[in-house]
Amino acid sequence: ESKRLKNSAHLFKNTMQEGYLRNVNIEQALRSAIENREFFMVYQPQISTQGAFYGVEALARWNSPILGNVPPDAFIPVAEASGQMPALGRCIIEASFADIKGVQQALGRTFYTSINLSARQLLEPDFAAYFIGKMREEGIQGVWAALEITESLLIEDVGSILPLLQELKAHGIKLSMDDFGTGYSSLSMLRMLPIDELKIDKSFIDTVLLDKGAQQMVQSIITIGKNLEMDVVAEGIETKEQLDMLTHFGCDRFQGYYFARPLDKEALADFIQENHPY
Ligand code: C2E
Ligand code: CA
Ligand code: CA
Ligand code: CA
Repeated sequence: ESKRLKNSAHLFKNTMQEGYLRNVNIEQALRSAIENREFFMVYQPQISTQGAFYGVEALARWNSPILGNVPPDAFIPVAEASGQMPALGRCIIEASFADIKGVQQALGRTFYTSINLSARQLLEPDFAAYFIGKMREEGIQGVWAALEITESLLIEDVGSILPLLQELKAHGIKLSMDDFGTGYSSLSMLRMLPIDELKIDKSFIDTVLLDKGAQQMVQSIITIGKNLEMDVVAEGIETKEQLDMLTHFGCDRFQGYYFARPLDKEALADFIQENHPY
């Protein structure tokens, strides 16, 4: 028994060390990755209740020659912790605007583009000015842009972030509360902030068909959204049954493998033209 315990403790220690070493490797590789343009963006379509193409969420990808494909869940936190997020964040925003402008021009139509923000980016004093400047440079109007922020980010310091959010709003940019229901935001905070939409986290969608608790959670989120006049978006829709249930509950938009995986810009243009021509 004690030997087994000892083994599992040893295993745990090894896993921790491996995790640590991996983060050190990621941190080192990140330094050159931005300069060497190893990052690119993919775009996952969002579909409205009528089944029409609405827009995309931009998601970052890193193909490292040393580490292979590193998922964003692994490199975004390391970039934040090692002070590299401002640079990576700008690279993400600029690549997204350039790609989307290209697709929009090729197809002759505009659509909504949502970009994920990490906490560090909103804490940069000149973030709003930078973002609005880049948007203008690329000729993208605020009403077609959205920023996804998370609850944890706002809990840190609502007071100092509010003016920045208001400045973004004044330029028509939409604000989306990502992974809603997984953090600790209060309803009063939600009411205080100029948020336009709530995104229901995939973890709730994963179990919504089986689990009464997840079902009630999803219904509550939709009710909160409606009461605060926000749109509600469901992510991680993989089946027709999930789509039907979420439609029945009154969700406004959907995103997930059932419709499309995240696509590179060429595949995105094809997807829109083939599945959602005007
Ligand atoms: P998120 O913002 O919640 O993004 C949704 C994640 O769910 C994406 O994973 C997407 O590919 C995945 N997904 C969407 N639909 C389905 C589905 O039907 N089934 C399954 N199994 N998965 C689905 P991804 O691209 O690996 O991103 C993971 C997380 O990394 C994101 O979660 C976000 O928090 C972060 N992230 C990604 N790109 C960026 C970025 O550019 N900036 C920042 N700050 N964070 C990013
Ligand atoms: Ca997101
Ligand atoms: Ca509103
Ligand atoms: Ca999520």
